[in-house]
This record gives sequence, structure tokens and C-alpha cells, in this order.
Amino acid sequence: MKPLVGHEIVQQRFTESLAAGSLHHAWLLYGMKGIGKHTLAETLAACLMCESQSACGACHGCKMLIVGSHPDLFRLGLIEGKRDLNIEQVRGVLAFLSLSGAESGRRVVILDDAERMNGQAANALLKGLEEPTAGSVLLMVCSDLERLPATIRSRCMLQQCSPLHDAEVREVLEQQETPVKATYVDLALSLAGGSPGAVSCLQDAKVAEALLSWRDLTADMSSADVGKIQAWISVNVKLVPHALIVQLLVNAVSPMLQKACNEDAYVGRESIQQALQACLRWPGEVVRHSLRAGPALLSSVLQLRAALKK
Ligand SMILES: [Zn+2]
Repeated sequence: MKPLVGHEIVQQRFTESLAAGSLHHAWLLYGMKGIGKHTLAETLAACLMCESQSACGACHGCKMLIVGSHPDLFRLGLIEGKRDLNIEQVRGVLAFLSLSGAESGRRVVILDDAERMNGQAANALLKGLEEPTAGSVLLMVCSDLERLPATIRSRCMLQQCSPLHDAEVREVLEQQETPVKATYVDLALSLAGGSPGAVSCLQDAKVAEALLSWRDLTADMSSADVGKIQAWISVNVKLVPHALIVQLLVNAVSPMLQKACNEDAYVGRESIQQALQACLRWPGEVVRHSLRAGPALLSSVLQLRAALKK
């Protein structure tokens, strides 16, 4: 099992209510992508299965979890290539939860990507949440709380999971099976925004090198070399996650925007903000309008460059 980094407060709340015998039957762990919510859910499940309620790793229950054969734990998430979680999957969850535990006296389900349940699936789950079976615990993981119906949210114990601190992000990046190389860790931290998952692609040195050259090219945007930018885009736009391309632009432009704000240069500030907004919209617009990513990025970058030149 992956070691949990961060999220101590949620874990503490969980183990305290478990020890007090007052554990809620449905926990909803929500927060941004890539911060370890699934690992948190696995850790909480391990506390439930553990004989000493501590995920000790040594008792019979923990050992069964580690080898992946615990009969009382069921995991469900979005299947790759599928758009949503459907009613049959949720019925499977409810059927599992309604049985009594074979080993631990509990039945535990980790439901990932909860926001991807379709309407029917959510309705089916709602009925299960209203009439929980004794000993059943549902651990839901969700990266977009707004997409979950309020009726479901209101029946769960909501737990917000915070982005990780830099030291924690560093720890996760270093302990991954393929760690991010030490030379790229600072770059990763400048891009992560508290989410190690967002920068785990820097394990690939090609991606990391591409990002470093993008950072250099765009560091001083007002005098950036358009030919070189165009060349970079044509080679790398498919290789590097779009969100990270944009994040480096934001990192480069933020101090200049701050300066324009301080100097009360209204016109400059407006045009920089608008150009930056266009850059931020770019990843989504590529997907929504099936734009060609390269030319669309170039045009946003040129807009930004022009705004900064004024
Ligand atoms: Zn144990």
C-alpha cells in the first residue's frame, strides 16, 4: 500500500470516531485532483480492517489487504474509456454493502470518481445512503464536489482534503516508484500547486526538459522570440500536459501583472489580464471546440506578448 502523505486531520477525525464507536457510514473525501485522496481512502479502509484499528500492516486483516485479497473491501471507479459510473455499478456496490462482513464484521467500499456517477446511478446510491446496513462503510472520493447532487452530499460526512505543502509534495515525488529526478524537483514544486499528481509526468525527463526550455523561452515574454516559441510548440504541445504549459506562463506573467496593479496602470493591467485569461481557457477550449492545440496556443501567447509590450 502506498504510504499516505498529508491529510492527518481527516485521518485523525476518522480514527477518533471509529474508536468512539460513532463512525458515520458514508464519508465523502473531496478536494483537487492528484493530492492523494485515494491513498487516504485506502488508509482509512485499512484502519477499518485492522485488528487494532491502526492500519498496523502486521495483523491478519492488514496482511490480507496488502496482498489484495480482503473479502470485505470492494473498490469501484471509472473504467477507462467510459464516460460515467452507471447504475449497474452502483447496484453492485449496494449489494456488496448489504452483505455482512466475512472477516472483519464490516463491509467497506471505496468509490472513486464519485462525481462521475450519472443521474440514475446517483439516485440508486441515494437510497442506499438512506438505509445503511449495520457495519457498512462507504468511502467516496471526489474531485469536483459541485457535480455531486446535493442530496448525496447532505447524507455524507464531508471531509475537505487540502492541497499538500511543498515538503509533502517533494516527499511524494521522491517516493514514487519512478521518482522525479532531483534536478527537476524545484520545477515540479513551482508547477504543482500542492498536487503531486499534477506534476508526476516530470518523471519523464523529456517532459521535464521541454518544460525547462518553455520556462526559459517565456520568462521575459515581452521580448520572447516568436520563432523559437513556434518551434517549441510544434515539437512539444502533444508531449507536455497543457495545464503545465499554461502554469509556466502564469508563473512568468504574475509578477508583471502585480507590477501593473501596483502602478495603477489600468490599461496595461486589463489587457494583460485578458490575455492571461485566454491562455487559461486554452486547454479547455482545445477539448470543447476540438481546436488544433498548437496554433491556438500560439495565438494566445502572441496576445499575451503584445499585452506585455504596451
Ligand atoms: Zn493491522
